[in-house]
Amino acid sequence: MTVMMRGKPVADKIKEELQAKFAGKQVTLAIVVVGDDAASHVYKNRLVKMAQSLGVQTREVLLPATATQEAVLEAVQRLNEDTEVTGILPMMPLPKPLDGDAVGAAVAPEKDMDCLNPLNAGELYLGRSPWAPCTPRACMAILAHYQIDLAGKQVVVLGRSNVVGKPVANLLLQQNATVTICHSKTRNLSQLLQEADVIVAAIGRAEFVQPEMVQDGVVIVDVGINQVGDKLVGDVAASVADKASAFTPVPGGVGVVSNVMVMETLTRNM
Ligand code: NAP
Repeated sequence: MTVMMRGKPVADKIKEELQAKFAGKQVTLAIVVVGDDAASHVYKNRLVKMAQSLGVQTREVLLPATATQEAVLEAVQRLNEDTEVTGILPMMPLPKPLDGDAVGAAVAPEKDMDCLNPLNAGELYLGRSPWAPCTPRACMAILAHYQIDLAGKQVVVLGRSNVVGKPVANLLLQQNATVTICHSKTRNLSQLLQEADVIVAAIGRAEFVQPEMVQDGVVIVDVGINQVGDKLVGDVAASVADKASAFTPVPGGVGVVSNVMVMETLTRNM
């Protein structure tokens, strides 16, 4: 029988723990949004609502799409210096021609909510820090909640972005999985997928992974969110669930837990 690894029970449990940790403390999340990108504003509004439900204050810093690089860096610097601000999340990607990497690097490491500062990324890659970006941590929280043992398993990570693929591969390695990172230039992809015990898909290609590409009993963590008509689908076809031993649905899987992970990052200095 396939275990449907829904995100809600995982998110609810973490929220309960966070409520207890935040109780009686002054915690403030600053969210920086540059421009009018609809997805960024939807994400920001969702985070504000979740913060409120956990007793976390929010500070919204909204800058126009025409803001200069200096103006964005100054806004981040002000938040770095503000002792009332616990964590800072600049919404990515920034409008062109702004340099998102430079803005991420400007966030003080201890206030960095999504591992944008290279110092934090370095600590993660050295295996000295669990504070990966939020979505990879959501994948790991789901696997832990549903008691998927990773030690010695062949795990294929589809995608090598800095925000999902590379960090999730590092976290899997920290759990003693044998990890193969695949990308658009990978030649023997179908063979690697066939041999995988676990597949973490983060490529942004609707229903790319089909049932005939995987072995029976595979564990699927589907990070992909793709709009197809009026539906949201993952990078893995829903029909793969019939062959899988465990599977995250889209929607209702990784995305649900990712948002809570932003809140969890606020506890890093507690
Ligand atoms: P991204 O930056 O666009 O990276 C996509 C990666 O997939 C790249 O490494 C690319 O390879 C690889 N790729 C693309 N087509 C491929 C193919 N046909 N075969 C093998 N590899 C292929 O994407 P991302 O930001 O990591 O996001 C990936 C997906 O996760 C998207 O659907 C996004 O919406 C979703 N997402 C979800 C959450 C959540 O909370 N659930 C959070 C973030 C992202 P190259 O490097 O060679 O180009």
